[in-house]
Amino acid sequence: MTLRARNTPAQITAWVRAAVQGCREQILESPEAFDATPVRWIIDRVLQQSKADLGQRLQPVINATGIILHTNLGRSPMSDKAITAANNAARYTNVELNLESGRRSKRGERLMNLLAQLTGAEDALVVNNCAAATVLVLQAIAAGQEVIVSRGQLVEIGGGFRLPDVFRAAGVTLREVGTTNRTYLQDYENAVNDATGAVIRVHRSNFHLSGFVTEPTIDELVLMERPDSVAVIDDLGSGSMVDLTPYGLDEPNVLESIRAGADLSLFSGDKLFGGPQAGILVGKTRWIEKLRRSPIMRAMRVDKLTLAALEATAEIHLAGKALTELPTLRMITTTPDTVRNRCESLLTRLEPSSLLAVVPCESQVGGGSIPGSSLPSYALRISGLPPHHLSHNLRHGQIPIQARVSEEAVVLDLRTVSDQELPSLADGINAAIRETHHFANTETAPE
Ligand SMILES: *Cc1c(COP(=O)(O)O)cnc(C)c1O
Repeated sequence: MTLRARNTPAQITAWVRAAVQGCREQILESPEAFDATPVRWIIDRVLQQSKADLGQRLQPVINATGIILHTNLGRSPMSDKAITAANNAARYTNVELNLESGRRSKRGERLMNLLAQLTGAEDALVVNNCAAATVLVLQAIAAGQEVIVSRGQLVEIGGGFRLPDVFRAAGVTLREVGTTNRTYLQDYENAVNDATGAVIRVHRSNFHLSGFVTEPTIDELVLMERPDSVAVIDDLGSGSMVDLTPYGLDEPNVLESIRAGADLSLFSGDKLFGGPQAGILVGKTRWIEKLRRSPIMRAMRVDKLTLAALEATAEIHLAGKALTELPTLRMITTTPDTVRNRCESLLTRLEPSSLLAVVPCESQVGGGSIPGSSLPSYALRISGLPPHHLSHNLRHGQIPIQARVSEEAVVLDLRTVSDQELPSLADGINAAIRETHHFANTETAPE
C-alpha cells in the first residue's frame, strides 16, 4: 500500500514538517556529516515514521513465543464463544432491558448471578481490571482508615502499579506487619485497632519467596480475632477456578478463597479465568453492596462487550468445559506430545531445509501469574540465518508472527499456536526464510 492510501493527509503533513525540521537541525549541527540530499533524507524519514505507525496498528498476531499470558500480545486470548458474544453485543443489545418483561433491568445482573453461582459467593461485581478492583475496595471500604498488609506482600505489579502508592491514592493508611520473609497471624491480630478498616492478603504474582518463610493462610486470616467491621480481602490476581496442580502449577484458587470465608476476593478476567480484561470481585453481599454504592464505581464500570464476553466465559466454566474451550487453559493443559505432533505437522508444510529442527523447550504461563513455573514443550528451531533479521521478517508477513530468539536461532514454541493457525504460520515462515536468504545473498542491509 502506498503512503497516501495508508495515512491521512494531515498525518503525512505532520511527518513531513517534523522531517524538514529534523533535516535542518542535522545540517546545522554537522554540515560535513550530512551526506544525503535533503529531499532523499526527508522521504526516508517519513517512510520510517509510516512503518513505525503501521507496526502499532492493532491486528491479529500469531504467538509463537510459548508465553501463554503474554502481556505484550493482550494476555488471555478469548474463547470462540466469548468472541461471538462480544461481536453480537457490539450492535444494539439488551444490556439494560429485560426482554421478558419489557422493563429496564440492572446492567450485568445475569452475569453477577453466574459469577456468584460459579464461585459459591453471595454476590459479585465487575470493574475494568483487577487494579481498579483493588482501588475500589480500598477506597469504598477503608478510606480514612488503616488496612493491614504483610511486608512480604507489598508488591509492584506490571505497569508501575505499586501497592503503597495505591493505598495512598485511595486515602488509606498502610499498616505493614511482619517481616519480608515471615509474618504470623499474631502480627495481624496485634495491629488491629479502632482505626482498622480491613486486612488484605495480596498474592505475590510475579515473584517467589522461598526458604525461611511463613505467612498465615486465607483460612487463618478469616478466623483471626477482629471486630465485625474489619473486612478480610483476598487479592488473588490470577483467578484460577480449576485445580492446576496436576500440571505443576500451584496458584491460589478462587473457590478455596470463598470457601475459606474471605469477605471479598478479587481477580483479573484475563489471566487464568480466560476471559476479557476485567476485575472481578466476589464475596459477601454486605461488602459488595458497599462497593456498588461507591461514587467511583460508575467510573469503573465495564462496557457491554466485556459483559457479553465475560458472560460467555462464565458459562463455559459453569458447564465444566474450561479446560477444553478456554484457549488459555487448553494451552496450559496441552501435553508436550501434542505440541510435538503440531511441530511435525508444521514441518510437513514447510519448504524442506537443513536449517529446520524440532527441539524440546520450555513454555511459560506468564502474565504476572505463576512466576518461574514452566511447562515442557516443543518448538521449531530455525538456525543458520541471522536471527534478528529473520524474526523481523516473521513480524512483517501477511499475519505477523512473534517468535523467540535464543542462542543464535529463532525458536517457535507451538504450545501457544492453534492447529487452525498452522497454514498461516507455515506461509509466514516460508516467506520469511526466503526473504532472509535473499537479503543474505544480496548483502543488503536489513530494513
Ligand atoms: C495481575 C494482578 C493485579 C492486576 O490485575 P489487572 O487485571 O492487570 O489490573 C492485581 N493484583 C494481583 C495480585 C495481580 O496478580
